[in-house]
Amino acid sequence: MRAIRGRLLTFLLAPRGAGDAQSYRYIDDGIIVAKDGRIEAVGPADELTAQLPADMPVEHHAGALIMPGFIDPHIHFPQTQVIASYGAQLLEWLEKYTFVEEQKFADPAHSARNAEFFLDELARNGTTTAVAYCTAHPASAEALFAAAQKRNAGMIVGNSVMNRNGPPGLLAPAPTAIADSRDLIRRWHGSGRQRYAVTPRFAITSTDQQLAELGALLKEFPTVLMQTHLDENLNEIATIKRLFPNDPSYTAVYARFGLLGPRSLMGHCIHLEDAEVALLRDTQSVAVFCPTSNLFIGSGLFDYERLNAAGVRIALATDVGGGTSYSMLRTAAEAYKVMQLQSQNLPALAAFDLMTRRNSAALGLEGEIGAIAPGAFADLVVLDARATPAMAHRMEVARNLEEELFVLMTLGDDRAVRQTYIAGEPALEVRA
Ligand SMILES: [Zn+2]
Repeated sequence: MRAIRGRLLTFLLAPRGAGDAQSYRYIDDGIIVAKDGRIEAVGPADELTAQLPADMPVEHHAGALIMPGFIDPHIHFPQTQVIASYGAQLLEWLEKYTFVEEQKFADPAHSARNAEFFLDELARNGTTTAVAYCTAHPASAEALFAAAQKRNAGMIVGNSVMNRNGPPGLLAPAPTAIADSRDLIRRWHGSGRQRYAVTPRFAITSTDQQLAELGALLKEFPTVLMQTHLDENLNEIATIKRLFPNDPSYTAVYARFGLLGPRSLMGHCIHLEDAEVALLRDTQSVAVFCPTSNLFIGSGLFDYERLNAAGVRIALATDVGGGTSYSMLRTAAEAYKVMQLQSQNLPALAAFDLMTRRNSAALGLEGEIGAIAPGAFADLVVLDARATPAMAHRMEVARNLEEELFVLMTLGDDRAVRQTYIAGEPALEVRA
């Protein structure tokens, strides 16, 4: 057991705009009691302190804001050395950088070393759960699952399945790929905090037969998730039209193979036709907004208001290595700018709700992660809005909590993360 003390903030429902105080619970001096990895109790320090055993260690993060750990619902584990690759749009970027790098993950030692780096980097950025694409090699997913399990970190992992339009080293014939996926599901899905995601990279790299088999796999295991890419880039969409001439749209291809649904995370969703928006809404699929990636790869602007108004579920993610930062704070800052370019606003409350509660809901894990509440895992991020001279200087004139949050998301990054707790255990060396 341990007690963690500071200023506590957790979201209860989606803010209806800036200043919506009904959307969150804030305790100016609060305590979280963690036991066996989960939150046992939470409340004001003056009420809870008296109930705690005298010998219980209390970690006091004076002045800092303690929130549920961030959730990153779209990130590529094998792209930690692809991030910051110059000058290409999606299809060229895949061929020139990604497919080359991903072939190295056939080597279990390479996968294991990168898994440790990946999880360290997530923790440094306050991210406690991620939904990660691995390579085609089962060894890559295996390495990430095993490393996450050791840390008791809840990860959702899938091996990217491809059988065409890629280098031979990443292609597997359909029966092998499906057998690999089924084997990973049986061994890892529901083992400790680990979960599996069926992962067609995108429809360009799988034949009809493989997409059908992946759809069947999703049906066979009703609690596994599904992740893929959709309507990211115009050349990608033109290729889809060539490969699937009889389907009315890109989204309709996934629908035909049973790959849409409430457990389906659709990365990007930028260039959607109206019928595709309706299809996403009707199937309760999640549109995953990846702003740093969309800007860096030059894909386009995610139309948040259009999808939100249509009733499409939305999540926010980094998409490293197309994305340029592991930090969900940097990601929120770029989301804000993408929306500004379309005369839309992203209030700080809405951004932090997205990074925590709403992203957990997108994964079907609301109540388990993304909240400071009894019963939830004690996955927490401790944030310091005065972490840099520029932030501290700006904070001198911040008038309220919402302004502090906006400073954090606009100026903050890993330097603003003072500590990250995973299942109640500190994940970072305390900084001097
Ligand atoms: Zn991606």
